[in-house]
Amino acid sequence: MDSSTSKPKWIRVKLPSGKNYKELRGIVDKYKLNTICQSGSCPNMGECWGEGTATFMILGNICTRSCGFCGVKTGRPAEIDWEEPEKVARSIKLMKIKHAVLTSVDRDDLKDMGSIIWAETIKAVRRISPGTTMETLIPDFQGIHRHINRILEAAPEVISHNMETVRRLTREVRIQAKYDRSLEVLRYIKEQGQRRTKTGIMLGLGEKPSEVYESIKEIHDAHVDVITIGQYLQPSKKHLPVKEFIPLKQFKDYEDYARSLGNFRHIESSPLVRSSYHAEKHVN
Ligand code: SF4
Ligand code: SF4
Repeated sequence: MDSSTSKPKWIRVKLPSGKNYKELRGIVDKYKLNTICQSGSCPNMGECWGEGTATFMILGNICTRSCGFCGVKTGRPAEIDWEEPEKVARSIKLMKIKHAVLTSVDRDDLKDMGSIIWAETIKAVRRISPGTTMETLIPDFQGIHRHINRILEAAPEVISHNMETVRRLTREVRIQAKYDRSLEVLRYIKEQGQRRTKTGIMLGLGEKPSEVYESIKEIHDAHVDVITIGQYLQPSKKHLPVKEFIPLKQFKDYEDYARSLGNFRHIESSPLVRSSYHAEKHVN
């Protein structure tokens, strides 16, 4: 293992602990909610849960897709739980969450691809916890506008959809997705008048710097407001290997480049950044 593939010390993270963390964990367990923090083995759990922020995953915890980087299980998803929107909204209220991040597994098995539960969940949070702002990290809905429109109509503050990687690696990293389709989803959402749009990419999967610069430019040209750039970490030995731990200086160079393009409102670029990291800052 050479120096670029051995885990640098800045990647090591605090283990989750503290009173807030325990309280949130208690509510999540009691209501049998799914969080991407847990199923994605996110390295920021100690920090985010300690501060009362979590990312809820709706529509079950089994995905119809099989992205090579993702810790969520693939298979036949569970039946739809029509009470899920209420359960999630009540938990958010109970947890006194000011800014909630909602995401979901992909439900390519459903006619509406899960967009109805998505919209109902956003509306339930508005009704039950009106002080909570929301970021919705949505699937690509195969680019179908009528599904995306349900999310737009429910009007969350931020709509995000992750590009995840550069163009060349998209097939390997997220086999059922398409780079241009994801870019088009982001562009469409902004063109419909959505105030804040957001995307994220992971580094260390074998991309070249020139390819990262190209992706940042294409994302910028799709009028995306917020970009997050973080280090890929392998959830288990079965997942895609980390090809490289990107030096901090390189993250800074990407951030500077993104800033130089002029139109991004927020740029988060450092190893432990995840798309929902510091999400509360991205509403404005
Ligand atoms: Fe959860 Fe996101 Fe924080 Fe990770 S960065 S712990 S997924 S809220
Ligand atoms: Fe994971 Fe999303 Fe890919 Fe499903 S579509 S495997 S939840 S990244």
